[in-house]
Amino acid sequence: MARKSSQSRSSQGKPLSAAPSGAPLSAVCPATLEIYDTTLRDGAQAEDVSFSAEDKVRVAQQLDGLGVQFIEGGWPGANPKDIEFFRMIKTVPLQTATVVAFGATRKSSNAVQKDPNIRALLDAETTIITLFGKSWSLHVTDALGISLVKNLELISDSVAHLRSKGRRVFYDAEHFFDGYKTNPDYALETIRHAVAAGAERVILCDTNGGSMPWEIKEVCEIVRRECAVPLGIHAHNDCEMAVANSLVAIETGVVQVQGTINGIGERCGNANLCSIIPNLELKMKRPALRDRLSHLKRVSGFVAEIANLMPNKHQPYVGDSAFAHKGGVHIHAVLKNPATYEHVIPGLVGNRQRVLVSDAAGRSGLLEKVEAYGIRLDKGHAKLQELI
Ligand SMILES: [Zn+2]
Repeated sequence: MARKSSQSRSSQGKPLSAAPSGAPLSAVCPATLEIYDTTLRDGAQAEDVSFSAEDKVRVAQQLDGLGVQFIEGGWPGANPKDIEFFRMIKTVPLQTATVVAFGATRKSSNAVQKDPNIRALLDAETTIITLFGKSWSLHVTDALGISLVKNLELISDSVAHLRSKGRRVFYDAEHFFDGYKTNPDYALETIRHAVAAGAERVILCDTNGGSMPWEIKEVCEIVRRECAVPLGIHAHNDCEMAVANSLVAIETGVVQVQGTINGIGERCGNANLCSIIPNLELKMKRPALRDRLSHLKRVSGFVAEIANLMPNKHQPYVGDSAFAHKGGVHIHAVLKNPATYEHVIPGLVGNRQRVLVSDAAGRSGLLEKVEAYGIRLDKGHAKLQELI
């Protein structure tokens, strides 16, 4: 069976340009991307999904085996089960991943030293804490019910306090894109405060999942010029744009991409790492894992099993049907050369080609199936004709 040597079967074999016009490639295209998995926190907020602390440890081990850099384990200030997870994971040796605790900036009524959420974050004893705060003026005034200036204080205080305790801080700018559309100066001011207080990453969040790729591109390019630290992207899938939005952000020079296995998450889900990672590696030629892309389908299945969710067989790359061929014309061609109807080699993501037998299959498909069972039949055999 003929196999192409190139990883991708895309006719556009060369990587897409990562540089906006005029910008040097090296400035927007750092060598290492950061895969930040939030299956155990944002994914756990999906309807019908409930992980026990033990489940979370098992998923974390799988994610570590896959080679992701960061695993967001949970929100210790909001969930006692997550406190238990952070206690348990301390004794589990991980090879590649760093476990991260997630939580909010302090409440306006609490001093930062006495804020229970901030305390729970420190008690989780992770080296990195992802702290989220408000970037959208609407949320500051209508959800928190405080002044815009007060919100800036919460951000500065909370980040600075965690830094003073020796923790590295990633800052999740919640609702950043909506905030930027409403009040760009204020949205930028929130992240300037986070960086000034010591945040080492700023993650731009499309929390409501309502942004289009061209909006993400424009805003990311502006923020990259304004922000002194590397950026991340955290996209939700309410317009089915989360994967596209994540990739577009990376094209502008964002280094960290947050998402979940199989795209599970609140409402319509998060950006799906099972699509983002192979797109990065196979289409954009951006190394994302440590040569472990072929583990992807197995990890996808593992998470679906633990989450008690029926795997989506039509899921790109990792679904059982992603490389399944049913039409007679397709089967005939794909058996001669898989590149005719497969955009990548299935084994690269741990998947496999399947030939389906149906009333549409024709002679080639049936012959392939028969041979798989060790039965040798000539193409002109009367039995084959009878079976068809
Ligand atoms: Zn989210």
